[in-house]
Amino acid sequence: MKQKGVSREKILKELSDRLNKDLTYESGKILGSMCTTPHELAKSVMTMYLEKNLGDPGLFQGAQEIEVEVVRMLGKLLNNPESWGYIVSGGTEANIVAMRIARNIGRTKGKSGTPEVILPESAHISFDKAADLMGLRLIRIGIDHEYRVKVPEVKKAISNKTVAIVGIAGTTALGTVDPVEELSEIATENNLYLHIDAAFGGMVIPFLERLGYKIPKFDFRNKGVCSITIDPHKMGLAPIPAGGILFKNQSYIQENCFEIPYLAGGTYTHPIILGTRSGATAIATWAILKHLGIEGYQKIVKSCMNVTQQLEKGIERIENVELATKPVINIVGITSKNLDICQIDQELRKLKWALGKFTNILRVVIMPHIKTQHIEQFLTDLEQITKKLQENKT
Ligand code: PLP
Repeated sequence: MKQKGVSREKILKELSDRLNKDLTYESGKILGSMCTTPHELAKSVMTMYLEKNLGDPGLFQGAQEIEVEVVRMLGKLLNNPESWGYIVSGGTEANIVAMRIARNIGRTKGKSGTPEVILPESAHISFDKAADLMGLRLIRIGIDHEYRVKVPEVKKAISNKTVAIVGIAGTTALGTVDPVEELSEIATENNLYLHIDAAFGGMVIPFLERLGYKIPKFDFRNKGVCSITIDPHKMGLAPIPAGGILFKNQSYIQENCFEIPYLAGGTYTHPIILGTRSGATAIATWAILKHLGIEGYQKIVKSCMNVTQQLEKGIERIENVELATKPVINIVGITSKNLDICQIDQELRKLKWALGKFTNILRVVIMPHIKTQHIEQFLTDLEQITKKLQENKT
């Protein structure tokens, strides 16, 4: 920091110049992100309430009531009006919080030794973070040809140290949905905690279901499901940071809260990680959920699925690349038997296309900022790149 301050005009000019080099969602070039431009209303509501701190809800009782309503709305979407939860900083925090609760519940059931969590290979890196932070052992289960967890292997992996089973509704790489109904049965039979990571899928699948798509039931309709991660800052069009963690009911957290006694608003107890946290994102999320309603989200999801289908068909037409699997939601995995995926990615990046890269898969997430014309251009570029790489090989 310099001794003397800089004028507002200069600051704004410098920021505008420097941030000019960032990619924008509007360019349509960001193909591999689960984030997008927040909805206009959410953006303006966010800026109106930036000072609200949900870390001290006694001071901001109105904001807290709004957060409770957001959780209730998300709970209803996930078919459980009794849900209890929080708007957190993202899917990572939500998953870490869920793993902590599961571990603690395991302890109260008398489990000793290193707590074990059974989860699919396709699980998000946030579970590795949770394991590292809490000394959990992750038991990774293989996935089948449809990229869904192998249920019989989940069953076999259960031990007296198991504290949780995790299923994914909308995997990070391909958007596939684990057979949650079967996982729920296993969890119930074995009296185990079942967490579903629907960080991305939570704001997609409920609308697809209403649109008539056949997708496994992943939510609280399965009685074994104890908690669900669902992130409004992904397909919910809420501003970052707006993740969501929902528990089946309040009893899951009652014994697992930290008490914060020093707050100006009075003692607050909570089970999440952050102290001071944004009230504005919860309020903006409330605004957008109310504003769009089920119909609004259905429209957005439908339109993303139309573009997904356009990309799916386009990939099928291009030689030397193929779909990793048929898209279940608005995520498309592109792979190749003959060409190096890393090389394809490098060439695409030269043209400023930003995809996600996983082992042997390039991921496109069809967020609302990706339109038909962007996919047309992308397919043209991809075809030329793969042709050139194939020619160079021969
Ligand atoms: N869970 C899944 C399935 C995800 O795909 C992601 C992010 O991509 C996360 C959790 C983590 O979410 P965040 O980046 O908001 O922490």
